[in-house]
Amino acid sequence: MTLAFESVAEARAWLYEQRACGLRIGFVPTMGALHEGHLDLVRRAARENDLAIVSVFVNPLQFNDPKDYAAYPRTFAEDVRLLATAGCAMAFTGTLAQFFPHELDAAGKLNAAHQVPPGAAALGLEGAMRPGHFEGVAAIVDRLFETVLPDTAYFGAKDYQQAQVVLGLARRRGGPRVVVCPTVREASGLALSSRNARLSVEDRQRAAQIYQALRAGQAAWDAGVRDADALRSSVLLVLQRTPEFRIEYVAVRDPSRWTAEEPHGAMQQAVCLVALWLSGVRLIDNLRWDAPA
Ligand code: AMP
Repeated sequence: MTLAFESVAEARAWLYEQRACGLRIGFVPTMGALHEGHLDLVRRAARENDLAIVSVFVNPLQFNDPKDYAAYPRTFAEDVRLLATAGCAMAFTGTLAQFFPHELDAAGKLNAAHQVPPGAAALGLEGAMRPGHFEGVAAIVDRLFETVLPDTAYFGAKDYQQAQVVLGLARRRGGPRVVVCPTVREASGLALSSRNARLSVEDRQRAAQIYQALRAGQAAWDAGVRDADALRSSVLLVLQRTPEFRIEYVAVRDPSRWTAEEPHGAMQQAVCLVALWLSGVRLIDNLRWDAPA
């Protein structure tokens, strides 16, 4: 059974009691419309802790596009039902005003004094394409950490740059421990995402080409190519075969050190990140090429 609270205050009070009993808390923040990718994080949180806690909150602060925010699926009751199958002890949701009772201005934006710097990992790529996105992520993740006070928080590698932002945030605030879990994919290779629900059957097949493109880059890496530009081109070549894609970026980064710009020279380690639009839906994915098979 998964307890469900629709107010932040109720969740906070319940969590206070659990912590008083000395229970170890694993926490998975989500925006809901849950799928196997989320449930994988929840199962791990349940395995490694006494309690797995999940937040379900579509955070308006991190949407730079109001249409995307409005179209984001909201399925809390169904989410709670799924969470019960994954060992989640408690799920909670709330409103922006409940999370930030004293920090919002009349337009519903965070007052400057309450902003949480997202750090250097927010520079470039998602940070450049979605102005204000990581500021919104940093603010809500910081507030969620404060609300739940977890021992460990679980995030997906699917949102690679977000995970870097959160790791930096947790380091600066002195916790919690952050675990980044592998991306869960469909059999076709398409990374699971709540946004996939907005794709037609044909578009889902097309979207699987994103993974094929990342794998083409992997093949080049495995064949010994180390030049960022050449690696990037091998991915782009595959993506360009699908004319329905509107590519925002294909980028190669050194996973040991986030840089806003592409690193120069031969790479020792590499992660490739892709963002593109398909039929009005924005999709992102990434693949570490240096990871052991
Ligand atoms: P979201 O609901 O999209 O904010 O995602 C909540 C958490 O689930 C984030 O840490 C995501 O990185 C993670 N996540 C989303 N999709 C996947 C996936 N396909 N595999 C693994 N983790 C995921």
